[in-house]
Amino acid sequence: MKRIFSQFAYSDDPRQGCWWDTTVEIGQNPRLQGDVTCDVVIVGAGFTGLSAAYHLARSGASVVVLEANAVGWGASGRNGGFCCLGGGKASDATLDKRVGRTGRLEWRLAEKAAVELVDQLLTELNLDVDRHSTGETCLAHRPKDARGFERAAATVEENYGVSPEVLTDAQLGAAGMAGQFHGAMTVPIGFALNPRKFVAGLYAAATDLGVQFFDQSAVTDINEAGVSTASGRVFSDRVIVATNGYSSEDIPHWMAGRYMPTQSTVIVTRPLMPDELSAQGWTSTQMAYDSRHLLHYFRLMPDNRFLFGMRGGIFSSKTAEGRAQARVIQDFRKMFPAWAGVEIPHAWSGMVCLARDLVPFAGAVAGAPNVLAGFAYHGNGVAMGTFTGKTLAQLALGQTPALYPAAMCNPARKFPFGSLRRSIMPPVYAAYHVDDML
Ligand SMILES: Cc1cc2nc3c(=O)[nH]c(=O)nc-3n(C[C@H](O)[C@H](O)[C@H](O)COP(=O)(O)OP(=O)(O)OC[C@H]3O[C@@H](n4cnc5c(N)ncnc54)[C@H](O)[C@@H]3O)c2cc1C
Repeated sequence: MKRIFSQFAYSDDPRQGCWWDTTVEIGQNPRLQGDVTCDVVIVGAGFTGLSAAYHLARSGASVVVLEANAVGWGASGRNGGFCCLGGGKASDATLDKRVGRTGRLEWRLAEKAAVELVDQLLTELNLDVDRHSTGETCLAHRPKDARGFERAAATVEENYGVSPEVLTDAQLGAAGMAGQFHGAMTVPIGFALNPRKFVAGLYAAATDLGVQFFDQSAVTDINEAGVSTASGRVFSDRVIVATNGYSSEDIPHWMAGRYMPTQSTVIVTRPLMPDELSAQGWTSTQMAYDSRHLLHYFRLMPDNRFLFGMRGGIFSSKTAEGRAQARVIQDFRKMFPAWAGVEIPHAWSGMVCLARDLVPFAGAVAGAPNVLAGFAYHGNGVAMGTFTGKTLAQLALGQTPALYPAAMCNPARKFPFGSLRRSIMPPVYAAYHVDDML
């Protein structure tokens, strides 16, 4: 596998301190040995691959999932657990230009349908995932962002057909969201969950339906007959590539230059005491983020641990990881000063994935009609990865998905600079950082 970050990013090191690993066990699977035949083989066992596997198996297809590490090892088993709108970063104006207003509204509908799909799966599979939060709250980090909320609320109404609740800074204390914020807007779509419990639930459901999983089975080649690993082959009619931020330039070769992995870092505190919560004035269980481009995301979980995350570093190494974690801790202590002395036993990072056109891709790979791929959820893949997995399952079965927005059908364009494309990110981050301070 040819990858664009250093090996450290693809090792177990960045996920060492992951809180979710302590909350649920996921069984191990054998390594692929020899030849296996199935209808569809899936590369990668995160939300995209698991959702594809579950939906395919439910329709009667025989499915094999090959995972380079273990089920949920990638971003799906180590994210912030915000099941929310998103998946793309393209603005309304850009979408209108590219796919028209109807296309834009279709894409927004898909974002909402993605959250509904997770909700429906939790009910259908009877999964307890420590769910909390009614919708998602954006907190203004400067007065001008709070002033923009009324206008933003009108856009939300047009895009998603719901009315957000807007709070002034004077109302934040009563809502349990006191702090250095200037106002809030809550969009009543989405909820928070333990992502690893959701992974475990999808995995169990897929296994019950007969899906065969193989761990430590990195796919090293995709061809017309199926895929190969170092120790076996899977012959299949269709291949689904579900590797997102952990993708390679050569699995399949079409992927080269079309995805941009970037790092995100999360910390989790010990459980906070009631007096500590009141000292900070934060008692809300809403999942929240601030209005920066380079945003912080945070939530008080049901056991009173506080989760706080933000973008990770540009580089990947033990030293860079330490620096990224120190930066997150510093921002956390600045934003929540009453908790500056609180222990932070868990810190980890993982890869999210961007696309040049700032929308996900789900569809067939050019020049390889038997291969489908789905990726680039721009840091919001709990819902959108699950939705994309279902979409890919339908496409693999030869069905036309009822909701398949034009915005996510366009073959992901290549970034400039090929395998050196990460060099674009420092100036982008710097520009965002300056804009966030103005
Ligand atoms: C720290 C962090 C916080 C985040 N917070 C949120 C959040 O709060 N809300 C939200 O919506 N999203 C969040 N995200 C993003 C979200 O986790 C991802 O978008 C989503 O999990 C992607 O799912 P996936 O299945 O496509 O990819 P992944 O879960 O990354 O899975 C890809 C898998 O493919 C495997 N793989 C790669 N190459 C091969 C190969 N050649 N052969 C076999 N297997 C291979 C990898 O080992 C990996 O397990 C966060 C991500 C991170 C890293």
